[in-house]
Amino acid sequence: MINVTKSYLPDLDEYVEHLKGIWDRVYLTNNGPLSLRLEQELRDYLGVKHLWFCSNGTIVLQMAIKALGITKEVITTPFSYCATTHTIIWEQCTPVFADIRPEDYTIDPTQIERQITENTEAIMATHVYGNPCQIEAIQRIADKHHLKVIYDGAHAFGATYQGKSVLSYGDISTCSFHATKVFHTVEGGLITCQTDEMANQLSLYRSFGHRNDDYIDIGINAKNSEVHAAMGLCNLPKVPDLIAAREERFGWYDSLLDWSRLSKPTRMGDLEYNYAYYPVVFRSEAQMLGVRDALNAVGVYPRRYFYPSLNTLPFVQKLSGRSLQPCPVSEDIALRVLCLPLYPDLAQADAERISRVINENL
Ligand SMILES: *Cc1c(COP(=O)(O)O)cnc(C)c1O
Repeated sequence: MINVTKSYLPDLDEYVEHLKGIWDRVYLTNNGPLSLRLEQELRDYLGVKHLWFCSNGTIVLQMAIKALGITKEVITTPFSYCATTHTIIWEQCTPVFADIRPEDYTIDPTQIERQITENTEAIMATHVYGNPCQIEAIQRIADKHHLKVIYDGAHAFGATYQGKSVLSYGDISTCSFHATKVFHTVEGGLITCQTDEMANQLSLYRSFGHRNDDYIDIGINAKNSEVHAAMGLCNLPKVPDLIAAREERFGWYDSLLDWSRLSKPTRMGDLEYNYAYYPVVFRSEAQMLGVRDALNAVGVYPRRYFYPSLNTLPFVQKLSGRSLQPCPVSEDIALRVLCLPLYPDLAQADAERISRVINENL
């Protein structure tokens, strides 16, 4: 069976070495030495000053909304994983959808401007498939209208834009270290921000809002454990090789698929890409489903990322007290897109077989 992704696992002996240290110290969580070391290595690798290792890529979005004091409308993308929208609603804010760009499926700045009201407080955008949003245009809009910018960078680990980590932009950026992502700690995530003050606030939120006997604010538990940090310490040094292996497999699909009958999103200039996903867009949903069935029949399981377009979810409309906010581009792409299997040890013969099945069913 070939799935859309396959988690990278480090050498077991290397992981066990870390576990032995954990067993010796009997120190399992709450900013233990492995978590602190991973955070420092992540700061060095990403080149960001303020960064916290957290328990997943969803709670960090909730922390971002809370820490920026957002309580009203958040302009967001309908083309993302459901967590992006859910966290906005979970934090009692209202998601207002701005449609995406047809070229690369990131949120469209001109559509953002159209959705601004006196209640707009923030923009929450996703770097789709690791390709950055229109960062400069979004920042200009945010500055003009005094809005905060949160980037869901769950796909963007290891990607750099204009020589800086894609995770270093906006007021707050987040990432997911879930087992399916380019870099993972089994479960995990990170949050980055721009100021000492915000970093301090986020660290408080991560640990119940108190430091020892000083109870300072409300908080939540978003810490991660030594066992997860150990996985991160094993995997982080491998990231450049993992990305290189992904790039090679990306090239195989690029050359094998029949582009006269398929399309794919463009990528930003001045980007060092992380090759996180391999999306392919078909001519119609029926064609995509036909290809998916043909792949499933030979044991290949691509995924519909992203589907459905989040603005169309009935419970999202109900909970935010709004009728459907149409986003025709996102709704259209969501019906036709499929992400193909892509992971560092995908065999060339499998990429060839997958490409053949796709081309034969177009
Ligand atoms: C994976 C993902 C998340 C959620 O991350 P978890 O670590 O699984 O909580 C959020 N947003 C996007 C875009 C994702 O792909």
